[in-house]
Amino acid sequence: MKVAALAGGVGGAKLAHGLDQVLPAGDLTVIVNTGDDFEYLGLRISPDLDTVMYTLAGLADPEKGWGRADESWICLDTLRLLGGPTWFRLGDKDLALHLERTRRLGQGETLTAITGDFCSTLGVRSTILPMSDERVATKVQTEGGELAFQTYFVALRCEPEVRGFRFEGLDSAKPAAGVLEAIGEADLVVLCPSNPWVSLDPILAIEGVRSAVGQKPVVGVSPIIGGRALKGPAAMMYQQLGFEASALTVAEHYRSLLDGFVLDHADLELESQVQVLGLQTCVTQTVMNDYHDRRNLADTILEFAQQIQERMRST
Ligand code: GDP
Repeated sequence: MKVAALAGGVGGAKLAHGLDQVLPAGDLTVIVNTGDDFEYLGLRISPDLDTVMYTLAGLADPEKGWGRADESWICLDTLRLLGGPTWFRLGDKDLALHLERTRRLGQGETLTAITGDFCSTLGVRSTILPMSDERVATKVQTEGGELAFQTYFVALRCEPEVRGFRFEGLDSAKPAAGVLEAIGEADLVVLCPSNPWVSLDPILAIEGVRSAVGQKPVVGVSPIIGGRALKGPAAMMYQQLGFEASALTVAEHYRSLLDGFVLDHADLELESQVQVLGLQTCVTQTVMNDYHDRRNLADTILEFAQQIQERMRST
């Protein structure tokens, strides 16, 4: 089964890793949000892309979820002594990647090509694609005005109340080479458990992506469990925008695209309401604490997708 997975950072990366482990090599393409990308210390940082890449390469820091394991912080510590900006933490090995990416981008290479090369070097079996090679910058609209995503997320620790979002550059951004092809060839599209507002919505907003996804069997996995996000501001964003934070709200968010929706055991009581939306449901453990959980959830999703496809064929 060929699978295209749409993902943001940590939550999406964990499921993408599970799928990468259980699918035959070459059957998975992960399409990753680049709306969080930004310039820092003159370098181009792609946080979600790197989280997915490090996770699939088995190099991610298992505690933090982002950055690399066995990292050293000599550059950051020296930068702090010099009075430089250190609000966004970059380890030494991680920095090397940003240096090389920025150098190659400066020579006119695409983010897609550079990411592909890094993935081969790091031993990633699946294809990882940025959503676009053009810059799309997620802006968070707050009471005090519009903020660049990383300013809101890291520097201000998600404290300003959210009023909405804007994806700057969206009108002129095309899907990266291979994105529409991967979705077109997929037997299944998985919406990973990532922040719907700032991780998956930007990918779906890229020209042609939503309609390509809509032609495929689509399974979504709730990033909201028991009304809460395991990490990050996803639940808070729903509340601040006037919605109840729940798996049901996430199902409604993607309703027009979804065929099936995966809920956590903790949300069993919401299953019938998700079914009322016209979706098939699967209730399972969706919290991925270790590698075993990632593979289990990936296997469960693939079985669920097969059931969905059989039902589609028989109706
Ligand atoms: P993103 O992936 O860049 O959007 O950001 P994060 O991974 O930090 O968090 C986004 C969402 O992923 C949050 O709502 C988390 O609850 C969710 N998430 C993180 N880990 C898991 C997990 O193991 N299982 C599920 N179902 N959701 C998760």
